[in-house]
Amino acid sequence: MKIGVLALQGAFIEHQKILEKLGAKVAQVRLPEHLIDLDGLIIPGGESTTIGKMAEEYGLLEPLQQFGKQKPLWGTCAGAIFLAKNIGLHQPLLGLMDITVERNAFGRQIDSFEAELSIPCLGSSNGYTGLFPAVFIRAPLINDVGEGVEVLSKLTDGRIVAVRQGHLLATSFHPELTGDTRFHKYFLELIK
Ligand code: GLN
Repeated sequence: MKIGVLALQGAFIEHQKILEKLGAKVAQVRLPEHLIDLDGLIIPGGESTTIGKMAEEYGLLEPLQQFGKQKPLWGTCAGAIFLAKNIGLHQPLLGLMDITVERNAFGRQIDSFEAELSIPCLGSSNGYTGLFPAVFIRAPLINDVGEGVEVLSKLTDGRIVAVRQGHLLATSFHPELTGDTRFHKYFLELIK
């Protein structure tokens, strides 16, 4: 199994390290031809405007859309914004997921936080059990979801922070910044 991480900007190395720890082969994606033999792709957190503009410049927007129509794609934080259909702002998006996302919904950098999330689909594995440690850095919120979208996790106040639409995943937070590998394992299982 070979997984790509979009390596234009942001926290792609951290995703790569976790995937490799789980035994996957990983490729950094910067050009359309890097997508050819991949089984799935992660779009990391970072700055969604930068990721979008660079993807546009490198001719990646359409190839990424085609890829996401057929194969598993997971967007974390800025990556979740990039996957959304609607964010109420003008910036390059893939528009693959039927979700409405609000950028910087929790405030500025200083308002970043950690939360322990209940994510029932993860269960327990690799020695990890119970709540999932989630890091929110100038995070987006998933304000609305379409019919085919399953909510995987909410904050205790009910705000949505993780969703799945078939083979597409979006999380507001950064699962690559803690030692808990369960979300990456869940993604690898989705690919299988
Ligand atoms: N605030 C960033 C954006 O809007 C996302 C932050 C992140 O990925 N941690 O693109």
